[in-house]
Amino acid sequence: MRISVIGCGYLGAVHAACMAKLGHHVVGIDVDERKIAELSAATAPFYEPGLEDLLKEVQETGRLSFTTDMASAAGSDVHFICVGTPQKKGENAADMSYVDAALRGLLPHLSAGDVVVGKSTVPVGTASRLAEGIAEVQPEAHLVWNPEFLREGHAVSDTLNPDRFVYGVADGSEDHPAVAILDEVYDAPLSAGTPRLVSDLATAELVKTAANSFLATKISFINAMAELCEAAGADVTQLADAIGMDDRIGRKFLHAGIGFGGGCLPKDIRAFMARAGELGADQALTFLREVDAINMRRRTRVVELSRELCGGSLLGKRITVLGAAFKPESDDVRDSPALSIAAQLQLQGAVVTVSDPKALANAARRFPELQYVEDTDTAVKNADALLLLTEWQQYREMDPHTVKQYVTEPRILDGRNVLDPGKWRAAGWHYRGLGRP
Ligand code: NAD
Repeated sequence: MRISVIGCGYLGAVHAACMAKLGHHVVGIDVDERKIAELSAATAPFYEPGLEDLLKEVQETGRLSFTTDMASAAGSDVHFICVGTPQKKGENAADMSYVDAALRGLLPHLSAGDVVVGKSTVPVGTASRLAEGIAEVQPEAHLVWNPEFLREGHAVSDTLNPDRFVYGVADGSEDHPAVAILDEVYDAPLSAGTPRLVSDLATAELVKTAANSFLATKISFINAMAELCEAAGADVTQLADAIGMDDRIGRKFLHAGIGFGGGCLPKDIRAFMARAGELGADQALTFLREVDAINMRRRTRVVELSRELCGGSLLGKRITVLGAAFKPESDDVRDSPALSIAAQLQLQGAVVTVSDPKALANAARRFPELQYVEDTDTAVKNADALLLLTEWQQYREMDPHTVKQYVTEPRILDGRNVLDPGKWRAAGWHYRGLGRP
């Protein structure tokens, strides 16, 4: 099939490459000229495992191209909308201006029978509003809401082999003409057994925000338990192991630590609350305010623990923060708890060095006042305290004896509870985890 992908960021660039991998002819469109130049040269504009190899592989087939010219969408049968929906400045609601602009740009190029597929995460009600806009210009085109569930760091495999597909269509019916067209797009994963659910537009939009709210709640639940464990002298990692053995609960997403961040969970739960308020259903989601508050409290807690670790004062203390990305295997620093903690420590008088294998360029753009060192051995040199805040494999595998030779004081705060406390203490370190004695 001929496909256009509008918006080539973390979601769209991967989607475009994966659709070409599935055998389709794809044009990726973005307003960012730098991104398009890099993608056209088969270079990934951000770090995502496997993406660059995939770009090279599919571009050699001639099935994938990139452009800033929206007119290139003409002639495609299916148009994926993958632009950003960030938090509005000064408000909880989502900023829909990019989605609206993308659709406005696409409308003149739509033909009868085309299918517009929304993948961006949007407030419920957006799709039916966009469908009206499409119907005014091209009544014979269709809209499907097909939310994306990929995880950064696993985006390529999640796109090629997702857990499920959700198609939202106006009448919620399997017989809607767009269903068969999208089935053709996803023929390979569907044939491999990926389940697919057809719903109305509003349900499809809500599936995405509900899923993110559930995940955020699970993380904040275990972080609330960490607060309790700290107060009671208990161990949250053992508690999580024990409750996670109950099938109804499950161990996934029960990792107490510095909390969630990134370009999705924080802004999605806030936008969900804002939308519920508009719909007069705000009471249903007041619990998400607490989820958000527990999450933000983790960052303050880590700053306080770091002060304790440094003997009561941060002034002039050399602190090395290991990890800047919001999660490992990504260079994404949007609302990264690690970076936000690093910046707080610096504001409170510490001399902060941040290290990360992939995210330093993005981090330096966000917080130019921090010092950045990529090489771990150099970054930890002469540190008064280490903070492990993003659990990259190389930090999990650090040898406490080797690292001890570089630092001034062997003190470490394990913000993700991924190190073996016994091993670090036996090597002479003052080890602090979160929610553990
Ligand atoms: P992003 O900021 O990385 O990418 C958005 C891209 O859209 C940018 O490259 C931007 O230049 C481009 N863009 C903006 N306006 C445009 C226009 N008018 N025409 C063409 N391109 C335009 O954001 P992202 O992380 O890829 O997220 C995109 C959407 O997908 C969001 O709604 C997000 O919530 C959702 N989502 C993201 C992920 C993820 O892991 N990143 C996962 C699931 C869903």
